[in-house]
Amino acid sequence: MKNCTKLVLVFFLIPAVLFGQSKKGAKGGDKIEKLKAEAVAAVEANKEQAQQINDMLFSFAELGFQEEESFKYLTTLLEKEGFTVKKGVAGIPTAWIATWGSGKPLIAVGSDIDCIPKASQKPGVAYKDPIVEGAPGHGEGHNSGQALNIVAVLAVKKLMEREKIPGTLMLWPGVAEELVGTKAFYIRDGYFKDVDACIFTHVGNNLGVSWGDNGYNGLVSVRFNFEGQAAHAAGAPWRGRSALDAVELMNIGWNFRREHLELTQRSHYVISDGGDQPNVVPSKAAVWYYFRERTYPKIKKLFETGVKMAEGAALMTDTKFTYEILGSAWPVHTNRPIAAAMYDNIKKVGLPTWTDDDQLLARASQLELQAPKVEGLAVKLDSMGMPTSTAPVVMMGGQAMTPMGGGSDDIADISWSLPTIVLRYPSNIPGLPGHHWANAISMATPIAHKGIVAGAKAEAMTLLDMLLKPEIIKEAWAYYKDEQTKDIKYESLITSKEQPAIYLNKKIMTEFKPKLEKFYYDPSKYKTYLEQLGIKYPTVRDDQREAVKKEVEKAAAKVSSSSR
Ligand SMILES: [Zn+2]
Repeated sequence: MKNCTKLVLVFFLIPAVLFGQSKKGAKGGDKIEKLKAEAVAAVEANKEQAQQINDMLFSFAELGFQEEESFKYLTTLLEKEGFTVKKGVAGIPTAWIATWGSGKPLIAVGSDIDCIPKASQKPGVAYKDPIVEGAPGHGEGHNSGQALNIVAVLAVKKLMEREKIPGTLMLWPGVAEELVGTKAFYIRDGYFKDVDACIFTHVGNNLGVSWGDNGYNGLVSVRFNFEGQAAHAAGAPWRGRSALDAVELMNIGWNFRREHLELTQRSHYVISDGGDQPNVVPSKAAVWYYFRERTYPKIKKLFETGVKMAEGAALMTDTKFTYEILGSAWPVHTNRPIAAAMYDNIKKVGLPTWTDDDQLLARASQLELQAPKVEGLAVKLDSMGMPTSTAPVVMMGGQAMTPMGGGSDDIADISWSLPTIVLRYPSNIPGLPGHHWANAISMATPIAHKGIVAGAKAEAMTLLDMLLKPEIIKEAWAYYKDEQTKDIKYESLITSKEQPAIYLNKKIMTEFKPKLEKFYYDPSKYKTYLEQLGIKYPTVRDDQREAVKKEVEKAAAKVSSSSR
């Protein structure tokens, strides 16, 4: 109800002059509604392009910093559509910024493009069935956001041209989001300094938006490099100083310390270099940590504790160490006025209509992965996400809980630098583990395609709001200045000396790219990627089909008994 009142008020505040009307502001509102309806129709008419972009990026399956094919494909497409594309921004070969239009406002629209190691999976198949065994895959659904943004922006661009609406649209990719490896560098290097507002899109299980502290952790990604002395591991082990020993002792120290850390922290590591072969005492070894916490000071403290562990390990083993910061992210905080505008549009769009096939794939996947609930795809819109100090958050994996920490996204560094929101759209299946092959199941199927189209409609409408109602951006900055950053000022976790770690994942992609190339999507021959792979939609085993039937019957019986 409150939102409706606000909406009516907003309509009366629109500068009538924008529409060549001198009398009734409400007519300006009517005009915006008419333009929004046109944008929605344009997105609907262009849904094949959305599907193609989505399926194409899915088939490239590129890990962070190695998104070469995605880079070529997206920048070529945007240049064809009349955008000016700056390539290799912030010293990152696969990063780009595409702009179109002129003057203010400058609105940035972004989404991630990288995928997950070892998550290769055939779309539309409700059990593990990789396209290429061991290869990377879109087990986070980052293949979908650019498709959404591009069709939304193209629909709005057409209207801006016809109606001579002033403003600049900027499209950009989150490169290496899984490594939180780039967005703090975009900010540090000034690529967002003139941007008035940013809409970011991320795949989810519902069409939604939040504002305030989103309940995420921020993090710093650090690799500790130890150096010792090589020696014959049997002939003269006393002459060696093992760098691997240092890594193991650092991890032991950390794992004991873990008990005495705050419950909101998350920390995890991989040994990225454990030596070469057993008969040579490892002279070099490295361990790569993510230190996550709820606030910037806590992240810094956790990191300092990590450095102490490394010092202790070096002392015990008579080795030396250095560390490198490979990425960073603040905890996400998003903008209230823009979220409110987006949520009004989300309510107008509503959720996609799912078919029985979509629901069967979703439920079979939920059963296969032992999801907390076998509930299929979302059929009821989420309420607007509230700041986590007052509302429980739904964590990945489906449990609702008070904010105890969790994942991170470096969109935070943008959200702390200018008014930003994150639009979530229903292209994935609820209740899956995340960063997992199963999260790729829906990502080149009608579920993903419909989720993108719904998201693109809400985004196109919100872009029109921001272009035609200057008070939204004014209010957004007031929220940013007077509330969000009143007591907390953004300081990056990276300094002027850090460089983006663009070499990461190179080895893995060199191994898998030739194998994946054979499966790149060819839209000139196949309508969809499912068709190209010859996958019957949905592909479920007989036992899965039976189990889903039982689950649905059980749920129906529960409803009828509770309504008695
Ligand atoms: Zn993500």
